[in-house]
Amino acid sequence: MAINQSTTVDAYRCPDCHGEITFADGSWECTDCTYVPRHSAD
Ligand SMILES: [Zn+2]
Repeated sequence: MAINQSTTVDAYRCPDCHGEITFADGSWECTDCTYVPRHSAD
């Protein structure tokens, strides 16, 4: 029996520092380097 540790929470990872990207102030941003993922709206 293999224990599958599925990661449901790390859908968003900072490509820069691999930090956690969380939803704050109405937008997603990295908690470490304040990286903001691309938005479809400019
Ligand atoms: Zn980051």
